[in-house]
Amino acid sequence: MKRLRVEEQHILSLVAADAAALHVTPPHVRFVTGCAGPCYEALFNRIEVDRATLALPEPLLRIVVAHEVGHATQRRTMLLDFAWTVLSVMALLSIPCVVFATSSDEDFWRVSVPGFGFVVAFFACGKIWRMRSAKRSAAFELDADAKAASLCGAASALAALEVMAARGHIDAARLDAMRARLEAA
Ligand SMILES: [Zn+2]
Repeated sequence: MKRLRVEEQHILSLVAADAAALHVTPPHVRFVTGCAGPCYEALFNRIEVDRATLALPEPLLRIVVAHEVGHATQRRTMLLDFAWTVLSVMALLSIPCVVFATSSDEDFWRVSVPGFGFVVAFFACGKIWRMRSAKRSAAFELDADAKAASLCGAASALAALEVMAARGHIDAARLDAMRARLEAA
């Protein structure tokens, strides 16, 4: 096993401390060289940390790590969402398969019209699903921010979000939610 650098060891200890505070299994951490920003992968219960994140100043780094560990508390819901999506797509796709498998060749023109209707319905469902998943992921982000605020304090979380917003990493809704949290506290 390669020796971890000091910054990487530091991230691991932050993750372990946050996971203990949030009563969740500590996620694995993978250090990557890309520049996509930190992210959480529910399937592998893993946080990916890029080089730019490693170089963040300490207060900002703490919030970023707390936010990502916050996502680990949502793992069950994320995986259920994923399983539900796969099942729904499979169920939807099985409809035309059954129709075509049970129709005789002479019926072909009679099934092609409902078949076309099915394709239209399939794309409509896809659009609804994309809107729903955008809403779900926005809710996951707000919840992870709330967990970061509970660990590091709403004032430092807001300061971190403002820095990230200036870099274009986060949207205004997350900033507004954190400001409201700070006012309520
Ligand atoms: Zn997030």
